[in-house]
Amino acid sequence: MTGRKEKSRRGQRRHIALKDGDAIARMKRAGQVVALVLDRLAQSARPGVTTGELDRLAEAVIRSFGAIPTFYGLYDYPANICASVNDEVVHGIPGDRILQEGDIVSFDVGATAEDMIADAAATVPVGAISQDARRLLRVTRQALHKGIEQARAGNRVADISGAIQKHAESHGYGVVRKLVGHGVGYAMHEPPHVPNFVDGKTADSPELVPGMTLAIEPMINQGTWQITQDDDGWTYRTRDGSLSAHFEHTIAITEEGCDILTLRTAAGRAGVVAESRPETLAQRARVGGQL
Ligand code: MG
Repeated sequence: MTGRKEKSRRGQRRHIALKDGDAIARMKRAGQVVALVLDRLAQSARPGVTTGELDRLAEAVIRSFGAIPTFYGLYDYPANICASVNDEVVHGIPGDRILQEGDIVSFDVGATAEDMIADAAATVPVGAISQDARRLLRVTRQALHKGIEQARAGNRVADISGAIQKHAESHGYGVVRKLVGHGVGYAMHEPPHVPNFVDGKTADSPELVPGMTLAIEPMINQGTWQITQDDDGWTYRTRDGSLSAHFEHTIAITEEGCDILTLRTAAGRAGVVAESRPETLAQRARVGGQL
């Protein structure tokens, strides 16, 4: 889930909570659950399926690992995941909407495991999509990875932001400004903000140090960067009605660079299995969870 950009950036640096190895290991186990859920959602986002059905699938998979859907009830959010279709940018509330061939849908998933939180998102195609839509998805995913490449000790948050912005704008896309990435781990939204654009002086931007855990999440529009919010108080959509894409990973800054905690890995998969209690494994089998 995305953070809202606040006017003041003062004091952010002071309160950045660094995590030790144990806390990061727990976040990685939460991250592996999130990755598995996103995989299941991508496989299940087919024409005729409702976003509400996918929300229930996500909840079942998350709980099958003994984890908790972080978003439910957070700031009174009424669902387990966000599902934002086409011109919806983020925070779309799952419900009766039936996915159609050619749609794109952005899934945002948070899981709490062992008291630690991981957050990730991906935009996926529903059936066959247009070439323009495929390009938007590709460039937004690339922008995330350009940002992650800058996530290393000694760099600043603004190095991540600038890399994302440069890549997206070089393709003529609009970078959402009102919503930003964020610190994550003990809470869903921790300092610092991780914008997808650079504003102000780079020297004011927090320096990255080992133990920092960040949700990096470019939200990229085909057209204008401007967005509006629906009357539901949640859903953001592009002002010009153009498509929007959203990719997100939770990462930890390490001595060597960074560790992508929500990247699905064989080691991570094994970690999830090892940590799951026998009864949760049985539940997973019932909901048809696949490793
Ligand atoms: Mg987020």
